[in-house]
Amino acid sequence: MVIIMEKNAEKTQIGRVIEKLDTMGFKIHKSKGVDHTILGVIGNTSKIDIRDLQILPGVTDVYRISAPYKLVSREFQHKDTIIKIKDVEIGGDEVIVIAGPCAIESKEQTMIIAEHVSKAGAKILRGGAFKPRTSPYSFQGLGEEGLKIIREAADKYSMLVITEVMDKEQIPLVEEYTDIIQVGARNMQNFTFLSALGGSGKPVFLKRGISATIKEWLMSAEYILSGGNRDVIMCERGIRTFETYTRNTLDISAIPVVQKQSHLPVFADPSHGTGLRNKVIPMARAAIAAGADGIMIEVHHDPDNALSDGAQSLLPDQFDSLMDQSRIIANVIGKKIANRKE
Ligand code: PEP
Ligand code: MN
Repeated sequence: MVIIMEKNAEKTQIGRVIEKLDTMGFKIHKSKGVDHTILGVIGNTSKIDIRDLQILPGVTDVYRISAPYKLVSREFQHKDTIIKIKDVEIGGDEVIVIAGPCAIESKEQTMIIAEHVSKAGAKILRGGAFKPRTSPYSFQGLGEEGLKIIREAADKYSMLVITEVMDKEQIPLVEEYTDIIQVGARNMQNFTFLSALGGSGKPVFLKRGISATIKEWLMSAEYILSGGNRDVIMCERGIRTFETYTRNTLDISAIPVVQKQSHLPVFADPSHGTGLRNKVIPMARAAIAAGADGIMIEVHHDPDNALSDGAQSLLPDQFDSLMDQSRIIANVIGKKIANRKE
């Protein structure tokens, strides 16, 4: 951390800053520039609230040099994290595709979609059994019945399961059925929940909060890692901006930014990121071109009658065409995507 004193800071003001840091246990390196005195703070400064220094008389600016997230950062671990679940490797040179309905609605619906997306090359089946809906009157998911259905469908088509957990009480139940636990955008800063996931043996798929900065999102991942669970996948799913032509604004730039800051795999979810079926394919292509480790796509065979997010769900043949296009793009950047199963 570096503290820059005002041009005409008095000796007593500089002394007060040094004394404060000293009582907090830090070593200070003082240097005099042409106009300003600069104080370098040596030690682990992650617990300092920088505002406590910014308000001191004579201080003009305070900068952090190292990131406030430690375990999540590239400084801590240079190598990319690769998460291996059964025969699927997340974070390597294969772009992993997660696909399935927004919500598990019935066994028939899930089987139809699972068969289709697995044939097309998706390795992970998605579908919510517990749905975080804006309205309490909307379909809330089938609960445990939904978990049983998605597990059965994934096993039948040799896929992994990802499904959302909405609170910490649900963790043990969902862990019985899923391979990956999804944390929804609305829960990204539910800190007691994140800490509890630190104790889970299952990888966590952490969606970005609708108004979260990238730093806040990485700090949320830090909660999980610091609890002992190193297997976290970051997912950009669109943030809320002033734009109204799309449901959210998919922040493609978050992909390279997170990859620079962190060793964790980064996915993109253009379904929630745009909210409209006809925008999903172009944004999925863009995410892969930007270097995403994977994409999450909502697919429904009868979206007009879907119980949630029908408007943003791809039709099965659109999903096939997305997979074909994605393979070409992945190739161009030296990555691959699973082939179609015949
Ligand atoms: C979902 O994946 O269906 C979902 C609810 O996502 P998000 O938390 O990103 O809105
Ligand atoms: Mn959805």
